[in-house]
Amino acid sequence: MLFRLVILVALVLVGWYLFRKLTAPTQTPPDNSRSRGEYRPMVACERCGVHVPADQALTRGGASYCCRDHLPDDR
Ligand SMILES: [Zn+2]
Repeated sequence: MLFRLVILVALVLVGWYLFRKLTAPTQTPPDNSRSRGEYRPMVACERCGVHVPADQALTRGGASYCCRDHLPDDR
């Protein structure tokens, strides 16, 4: 009876080892998780002070604005 138990434990250990060996390559972190949390420079609106991403901000005369309504209308 004890001999069967040892065989059973050995089979479970071998199975667990093979399972870990097969699933190990899939545990590498995906590459897109790094690009998603990428740092984007923020700029403050000259009028209301709201911070917006620099690539979405509207700039005029070296100053940044959050939206078209806050652009100075000195035309
Ligand atoms: Zn603004």
